[in-house]
Amino acid sequence: MPQGNKQLYLTFDDGPHPEITPQVLDLLAKYNARATFFCVGENVARNPKTYQQILDAGHLTGNHTYNHLNGWKTPLKEYYDNTNKCREVVDSVYFRPSYGRITPFQIQTLKKEYTIVMWSVLSYDYDRETNAEQCLDYVMRHTTDGAIIVFHDSEKAAPNLLKTLPQVLSHYTKEGYRFERLDG
Ligand SMILES: [Zn+2]
Repeated sequence: MPQGNKQLYLTFDDGPHPEITPQVLDLLAKYNARATFFCVGENVARNPKTYQQILDAGHLTGNHTYNHLNGWKTPLKEYYDNTNKCREVVDSVYFRPSYGRITPFQIQTLKKEYTIVMWSVLSYDYDRETNAEQCLDYVMRHTTDGAIIVFHDSEKAAPNLLKTLPQVLSHYTKEGYRFERLDG
């Protein structure tokens, strides 16, 4: 994203999760931060209340396919249909491919209707080999003005996420950064 505005873009993939997402929302609220949640359609269908909480808190949502499909292993039509199925529950033109895996043909097709968003800083919060300290260190070393940082509001990532996120919010807020939605 553009530099020079002292803005950072937090993104949360794979939710909504009924216990973890509300904790993320509380942390964001504490720092008056806005973020973008790339939701998996089936998780939205399972947790509509949590999804509504995200919207009510003023955050942006994006499409992360209905079943968290791996683009490299999915035929174009199935991938496109699955993404549109997600759109029925996630009303957004923002799209992030699950696993970051998408083929050039899939990009060509989807970009006619969606804004495809990758990231510049991966927190590795989901990685069992990475602890919270390493997550924080990784985010701190790679974050620059305008960075798009990816976390996961999932069970797997929660132990690292819930320790790292408060420190990221606190550190960059003190440094004068604001956290915005991808459309903000
Ligand atoms: Zn994902």
